[in-house]
Amino acid sequence: MESLINHIVQLQELTLIRDEQKASSHTHHLEQLNKSIATMTAELPEEEQAIYTKLSKKDHVVIVPVTDNNCTGCGMKLPISLVQVVRQKKGVQRCPNCARILYSAQSAPKRVIQRVKRSAPRKVGVNRFSSAALMVPEIEADSMDDCIKSFAALMEAEGFINDAGKLADLAMARESVLSTVVDHGMAFPHVRGVEGGALAFAMGKSTAGLSLGDKERGLTHVVFFIVIPTAASAFYLKLLAGLTETFRNPEAVEKIMAETTQAGMWKALVKMTRPTIK
Ligand SMILES: [Zn+2]
Repeated sequence: MESLINHIVQLQELTLIRDEQKASSHTHHLEQLNKSIATMTAELPEEEQAIYTKLSKKDHVVIVPVTDNNCTGCGMKLPISLVQVVRQKKGVQRCPNCARILYSAQSAPKRVIQRVKRSAPRKVGVNRFSSAALMVPEIEADSMDDCIKSFAALMEAEGFINDAGKLADLAMARESVLSTVVDHGMAFPHVRGVEGGALAFAMGKSTAGLSLGDKERGLTHVVFFIVIPTAASAFYLKLLAGLTETFRNPEAVEKIMAETTQAGMWKALVKMTRPTIK
């Protein structure tokens, strides 16, 4: 059963990676991804294949971890008896509310909830997901590993997440499936399944450019490090598409490169993403 659940988790991971690649207009790996997805779908037992295919027509998040007895797909509190069966890994169990397949995952880092004053105005655009404190004017790293570690440490230091070490490990595990370095000098290392709050991202830049793995893609100048709750998976793709739309324009990259402080970078990012991220 464990291997079946792992198989479905991996299949979903590849499907979500394909969605990410499409959202960031990065098409180099689509053919290979399509092939792998088709093979892995065909390998599922008949019953699970039918469930998977039906669910994925609606939403590509088909299998979700149970966290604090909640379905992370829809947020519903699950009956304790069901949580126990999921933990025992007996058969495929599904959420009574959203019908997604449930699995028991090892504990992931959590988002730290930030208290917002009731009187505070409603945030819009990138203000909902980041702040000046999460801007890095000059990334000091010479590998993706170092780059991810420094972003994870910043997020923990600024009170956004609780376990930078584990977060960095998960981001590197995602990176090992397929590099998040894309065209236009951008990279989007990220971790999905960080529950307990909203999506959050940090942004950094490198004037000289970083060599982060995929040599064909050339040097990376702008890096977004993103933590994503399971339920925000669809929104994450919109964010990715919006950031890509902004930064595929060389003028936008030049503008952000000209900023030397966190406050300046943040102000420029907020302004430039106003038309692309609602
Ligand atoms: Zn659910």
